[in-house]
Order: sequence, then C-alpha cells, then structure tokens
Amino acid sequence: FLALEGLTKDFGATRAVDGISLDLRRNEFFALLGPSGCGKSTLLRMLAGFEAPTEGRILLDGQDITALKPERRPLNLMFQSYALFPHMTVARNIAYGLEMERLAKPEIAARVDEIMAVTDLAPFADRKPDQLSGGQKQRVALARALVKRPRVLLLDEPLGALDRKLRERMQLELKRLQHEVGITFVIVTHDQEEALVMADRIAILRDGRLLQCGTPEDVYQRPADRFVANFIGTMN
Ligand code: ATP
Ligand code: MG
Repeated sequence: FLALEGLTKDFGATRAVDGISLDLRRNEFFALLGPSGCGKSTLLRMLAGFEAPTEGRILLDGQDITALKPERRPLNLMFQSYALFPHMTVARNIAYGLEMERLAKPEIAARVDEIMAVTDLAPFADRKPDQLSGGQKQRVALARALVKRPRVLLLDEPLGALDRKLRERMQLELKRLQHEVGITFVIVTHDQEEALVMADRIAILRDGRLLQCGTPEDVYQRPADRFVANFIGTMN
C-alpha cells in the first residue's frame, strides 16, 4: 500500500537515513523505534514531503509520490514540536485545516466537536495555546492531525508529554480510530512498551538503518541481534 524503496537522506556528511525499504499495509499500526538521532523524524518528514530523499522512492498504491508537495499527499504529519497558532483558540486551531479545505461550516463544527471529545479537549475549546499545559497542547496537535482524516497519519512522539492515565486513554482512542475510520498509523515512540502494545508491526532503526521489522512477538521473542534485544527490553 505504502512502499518505501531504498530511502536515503544525507545532510552534508551525515547520513541520517540509510537505504530503508519497507512495505506498509493498509490500516496497519506501524511503530518506529530507535535511539535518539537514528533518523526517525527524518524518515517521517520524507514521507510527508517536507524533506526530499537523497536517494530512493515512495510509492502509494503503486504511484510514485516522491516528488509530490506535502499538501498533495494523502498523508498528514503531526510534528514532534507541535507548532500551534498562538492567536487562535483550541477549537480554531483544530478547525483550521478543514477551513482550508472549504468544508461546510456545520460539517467542520461536527468534526471538531467529535475530535475534541475523543482527545478530552472540550473544556479547553476557547483557550489559547499559551493557556494550556504541555500535554494539552500535544493533544491539540494530535486532534488537528486526526480531524483531517488522512489515509496515513504520521505521528512523531504523539503521547510523550502525557501522564500515564491519559496516555493509556489516548492509546485506546488511536486504536479505535485505526479500525473505525480506517487510518494507517506510522508512529514514532521512545516507549518500547507502547510500541509492543499498540503496533501491528515494529521497525527498529539504528544509525539510519533498518535493523529489524516484524510483529511485536517477532521482535520480542526473536530479536535480530543483541542491540534489538537490548533495545526492546528482552535483555536487561
Ligand atoms: P530523536 O529521537 O532525538 O527525535 P530522531 O531519530 O528523530 O531522533 P532525526 O531527527 O531524524 O533523529 O535525526 C537523524 C540525524 O540527522 C541526526 O544525526 C541529526 O543530527 C541529523 N539531522 C536531522 N535533521 C537535520 C538537518 N536539518 N540538518 C542537518 N542534520 C540533520
Ligand atoms: Mg525525532
């Protein structure tokens, strides 16, 4: 469904992503794991079209989308640093993308209300971003990405700023949306447990390379090497 073929990205002398090939399935929940600096964000930014690969191609349903502008791709990225519009309320921040698509006002209002309920943001609808906590801002960024109902949603550490209880609630909501709305999720997380619980498949990266890709059972029970075993927590 979404094929990455030998994706590579160089920044000067630094090879941030090194020849990654993957086949993502429709409506699967795919987690990217790996230490800081291993190229996770760069990979997502290439998929979203904010970074041009040095080498390689991206195919969606067999169509080469490598050169398409971000807004022409049916992929939506939630950034690691969630840049919200400071002068707009929470509700307007979430509605903005739909207003750009010129959807009818009642339709926009209904979808914004629905997504604010899912992300527990209804009480904060009229606040500005600087009146929110870090976790609340992160949920606004998540809501803004979800409300557009992209076919593929790329999430860079979407739940990192949330406390355990809220994190578990959001994990359940994302799994529900995966099945009900039919979204393919590609999610970056630093939390191995989160990847094992949520993902249908996990890819483990190191120094820009793909070390292993498989189901949570595969990587947990049959790690490809000591690094994967260590990283996934089989060996401690
Ligand atoms: P983290 O878990 O800390 O977010 P990451 O896996 O997302 O890390 P990337 O942000 O993709 O890592 O960075 C991969 C490598 O590419 C790093 O060595 C980083 O310094 C480098 N890099 C990323 N963006 C740029 C850039 N715009 N210019 C130069 N180097 C970059
Ligand atoms: Mg990153």
